[in-house]
Amino acid sequence: MKKRVAILGATGSIGKSALDVISKDPDNFEVVLLSARSRITELEQLKKQFPSAVCVNNNLLDAIRNVQPDITVNGIAGSAGLEPSIAAIKSGSNLALANKETIVMAGELVLKLAKEMGVNIIPVDSEHSAIYHLINGLGAPSEIILTASGGPFRKHTIQEMQNVTVEDALAHPTWNMGTKITIDSASMANKGLEIIEACILFKIQADNVKVVVHPQSIVHSMIRMHNGAFYAQLSKPDMRNPIADALYWPEIAPPAIDPLSFDSLTLEFEKPDTNKFPILNLAWEAARLGKLYPCVYNAANEEAVSCFISNKCGFLDIPKIAEYVLQMDWSKEFDNIEAVLEADKKARLEAVNFIQKMR
Ligand code: NAD
Ligand code: MG
Repeated sequence: MKKRVAILGATGSIGKSALDVISKDPDNFEVVLLSARSRITELEQLKKQFPSAVCVNNNLLDAIRNVQPDITVNGIAGSAGLEPSIAAIKSGSNLALANKETIVMAGELVLKLAKEMGVNIIPVDSEHSAIYHLINGLGAPSEIILTASGGPFRKHTIQEMQNVTVEDALAHPTWNMGTKITIDSASMANKGLEIIEACILFKIQADNVKVVVHPQSIVHSMIRMHNGAFYAQLSKPDMRNPIADALYWPEIAPPAIDPLSFDSLTLEFEKPDTNKFPILNLAWEAARLGKLYPCVYNAANEEAVSCFISNKCGFLDIPKIAEYVLQMDWSKEFDNIEAVLEADKKARLEAVNFIQKMR
């Protein structure tokens, strides 16, 4: 039986990679839903390529409910991905989850819902995909080691980072991704989101999630088992790999990309500089505090990044904005998505007020 696949964010970086994987195996996959909010002419082209798919640029939640896919690839950028993830789970669809914001904002509620619905959430974020498959093979680890490329400013001094432009921040050394996640990679807020994502997905304490800078982006993450041994997953930096792993799961995916050659491979590792990238420490703190702090970390950072992109603040203001919003009280217990959306909205208002005061 073919898997009926929905691709949310079909015109984006993840969406295109997912369509590439699926197009190579029409015997196993049928695209039943495609969604996009931007690059609508590209969506129209896709409609011609996949004539049986429903294509939407609004009313996405209704479309998911109507189509009831077997598996949904969520490649929507940012917090807008949360509600579509929930709609997919409620429709009984497994979730191939690239949209890390779903887990950061409301991970515990979403995991609980998935359990109630009997559906699986298979992470697509490359680090979490690596860890997920390692844990499936080896069991629960004592420590998770997330690798980070270090981004374009790895070798910059703080002084040199003072006046970097949006264009500088978009020049990622190893990965080709959408705008928001690329800026987050430059500030290391992306790794911060991934620390939180790992804590929630793999039910592990924040202090047992470590970060190591690995500029080649070949080792996609590691786990340390209780006997002290480290296990890693290695491949070229290409998202078709973790996407295929999620789409074929629980089967083993056929190779989605060329194999890695070890003939002349150098792998480097170094400690992340938390003075240069203070947003990393904020993520560990938000993960420790739990409650609404992870959601607020994401919301404040999203606002800060959109201000940086529109030249309303500088690059080094991004962690300052997140820090300002996070020092407020977000310790309210919650058991519904409405509370999450409300905190998200409030945190954004606080971020915007702070940015206006800074100017
Ligand atoms: P992108 O900007 O390239 O694409 C985003 C897609 O989402 C587009 O199709 C856009 O039309 C759609 N979209 C944007 N806003 C929307 C909204 N409000 N409602 C509905 N659809 C909307 O982004 P991307 O780089 O593909 O990233 C997507 C997600 O995957 C993010 O959560 C990102 O953190 C995660 N992710 C991406 C990569 C990568 O390599 N690109 C790797 C790991 C995780
Ligand atoms: Mg990642």
